[in-house]
Amino acid sequence: MKLSWRVLLLWTLPALVIGFFFWQGAFATAPTDMSKNTASTRMTYGRFLDYLDSGRVTSVDLYEGGRTAIVEAVDPELDNRIQRLRVDLPYNAPELISKLRGANISFDSHPLRNDGAIWGLLGNLIFPILLIGGLFFLFRRSSNIPGGPGQAMNFGKSRARFQMEAKTGVKFDDVAGIEEAKEELQEVVTFLKQPERFTAVGARIPKGALLVGPPGTGKTLLAKAIAGEAGVPFFSISGSEFVEMFVGVGASRVRDLFKKAKDNAPCLIFIDEIDAVGRQRGAGTGGGNDEREQTLNQLLTEMDGFEGNTGIIIIAATNRPDVLDSALLRPGRFDRQVIVDAPDVKGRQEILQVHARNKKLDPRVSLDAVARRTPGFTGADLANLLNEAAILTARRRKEAITLLEIDDAIDRVVAGMEGTPLVDSKSKRLIAYHEIGHALIGTVLKDHDPVQKVTLIPRGQAQGLTWFTPSEDQGLISRAQLLARITGALGGRAAEDIIFGAAEITTGAGGDLQQISAMARQMVTRFGMSDLGPLSLESQSGEVFLGRDWMSRSEYSEAIASRIDAQVRAIVEECYKNAKNIMRENRVVIDRLVDLLIEKETIDGEEFRQIVAEYTDVPEKQSVTAM
Ligand code: ADP
Ligand code: MG
Ligand code: ZN
Repeated sequence: MKLSWRVLLLWTLPALVIGFFFWQGAFATAPTDMSKNTASTRMTYGRFLDYLDSGRVTSVDLYEGGRTAIVEAVDPELDNRIQRLRVDLPYNAPELISKLRGANISFDSHPLRNDGAIWGLLGNLIFPILLIGGLFFLFRRSSNIPGGPGQAMNFGKSRARFQMEAKTGVKFDDVAGIEEAKEELQEVVTFLKQPERFTAVGARIPKGALLVGPPGTGKTLLAKAIAGEAGVPFFSISGSEFVEMFVGVGASRVRDLFKKAKDNAPCLIFIDEIDAVGRQRGAGTGGGNDEREQTLNQLLTEMDGFEGNTGIIIIAATNRPDVLDSALLRPGRFDRQVIVDAPDVKGRQEILQVHARNKKLDPRVSLDAVARRTPGFTGADLANLLNEAAILTARRRKEAITLLEIDDAIDRVVAGMEGTPLVDSKSKRLIAYHEIGHALIGTVLKDHDPVQKVTLIPRGQAQGLTWFTPSEDQGLISRAQLLARITGALGGRAAEDIIFGAAEITTGAGGDLQQISAMARQMVTRFGMSDLGPLSLESQSGEVFLGRDWMSRSEYSEAIASRIDAQVRAIVEECYKNAKNIMRENRVVIDRLVDLLIEKETIDGEEFRQIVAEYTDVPEKQSVTAM
């Protein structure tokens, strides 16, 4: 048997350490070896001097550099029997030596045992040795852990990074609000459960489906539900895990995955974020596409390599179908595309119901109202919302989740954590005017969504917030609505400007201005809502590195570009003029609302509208006629 030096080290080190301590112990008691052959009766120094003077001492042996002495003395009372006595000598007793000499007593000095030096040296070395040895072991061990520092050394053997769940436990009932997608995929369950039904009539079972939709809409959940309904194992891997530093690793992972799946057929393979590998070949920025292309090729080969009837269905998910390689989408591969979109009001209500199942909800809570308050929320957002509400309820030591907690949770999910309100100061007044500016415009303009509440309690980045209730689900938005939104968003800055003057305007409007520019530009370039006419002037995806194209093609001339800028400017300027006019005309009610807001911290929409109605004599609301 070959013993490596590591093993030797492993066994000798503890032995050395233990030995060291034992020996140290021995050393600590070393001086007592002189007392072994003595009656270790002790005697005081004073007594010793008395003995010396009376001539009873016959010999003295000094130990420990003269700190202790073993004295032989005769005892005249006991027939001059020789006694051996131990004396601790004072540190400084040089006169003792001359005294002993004068009395002619034989004395001897025994040196310190000095062979301890080598052991001391070893003792000093033991800890560094232990340390180095330990580090060495740690290093060796960690290099065996996949993903550890040593991983770079064995990239040849790929380690499977996919997860397998024998039973996902998710059913179609757990997925709500995406009925069309569920119906489409119901069929896939049948493929997995009863393939004979299809093969009997000569139908070729599709191999894959592509789920397309924004994050959090339930794509992963849906894929798990398919596996759960069909009662087959669920293999999942994320596209990003195919992409590795070394060429060939991703491809070998694909091979591993399919091999494992074939062994477990019927089963479902779920590839999340397939755009990470499946991007259009030969596109993108920078080099280093070899690895991704090889991985993609391997994936395509594997998908072609098994018959549809083997009972493996591949479901992939992405939110960027536009960047996928067309080879992935052709018949026989991911030929079915299922759109999984953010849910509408009804869908949100159903999702809320699913997630409310295991929560204690106050019976007065209307999930329908919650659904109406949460446009744009995805399934994941709603799940998170109810969870936040449950946490708040527990923190407030309540029995069941009430609307209050849900409302607070919505605010928190949308705008971030609640902060502590500012103390009354000039900047608080300025923020109040800013928010009242937004809210007032939102109230007087007829195309604007109604105000839900205005608050000076900070949340997330914002020092104050104005909430609007979207009247219905945002499907189509009219030009008048867009202009009203831009005007409303400018309301904050307009109020600062009119009340405090141009020199006092603040950075608080930064976020508003970003939105405004984006909205105005889109009106011109995407929706054809300006003098430039009904032209789409910009491709939708601006991100070069994610899309197909290295260079973003500009679809218009320089001359058009400057006209776009001019149109955007004109829209914003017109809206700003309007906003400032509204501020001037409503100065009285603004001042009153600001005082109230500073006092109460929050004004809800109903109260706000009542107060505004007292002051505005025009019964019907204004419509923006910018541009
Ligand atoms: P995606 O894969 O589309 O990003 P997930 O499937 O991972 O989204 O969704 C995350 C979580 O959000 C799910 O585990 C589930 O709790 C919740 N969820 C999302 N969509 C739905 C839905 N349609 N019905 C019920 N719950 C959903
Ligand atoms: Mg997912
Ligand atoms: Zn603002």
